[in-house]
Amino acid sequence: MELKHFSHEHPLMFIQKQIHAPTADSSSGEEEEEAAYCCLCEDRVEGPSYCCTDCRFYLHKTCAEFELALEINHPFHPKHPFILLPKPPHRVGIFLCWFCHMGRRGFGYHCALCNFNLDVNCALFQLSMVGNFPTLVNVLSTSIH
Ligand SMILES: [Zn+2]
Ligand SMILES: [Zn+2]
Ligand SMILES: [Zn+2]
Ligand SMILES: [Zn+2]
Repeated sequence: MELKHFSHEHPLMFIQKQIHAPTADSSSGEEEEEAAYCCLCEDRVEGPSYCCTDCRFYLHKTCAEFELALEINHPFHPKHPFILLPKPPHRVGIFLCWFCHMGRRGFGYHCALCNFNLDVNCALFQLSMVGNFPTLVNVLSTSIH
């Protein structure tokens, strides 16, 4: 089973369970290095997931299948729409989330005009708190041409 995800150039293979290969070198206590992290939510990947092993790109099954809006209007920043980016727009390689002030390496919503960032969790969580769902300008599954 393969999945073509908009965020990655290669097809992603489905894996039922993450297998942690033992490290060949003897650097002890560095097992965390071998763990896989989801590129969307940045949680550890242990259950069913999609991955590109060459790039060490992982997504939880649920994250990969979650229909993220490519563009949202957010009450925190009503002037411009946010565009979903699969990786940070800057060479620094990190999104600084405006809301939680966490640096994120994965997906984020970005306003290029204001250089305003929200990570996916904050964008969606805050929207659900506001009880005001985003205006789905574009829904992923219907907007790939
Ligand atoms: Zn995830
Ligand atoms: Zn790849
Ligand atoms: Zn955040
Ligand atoms: Zn803006």
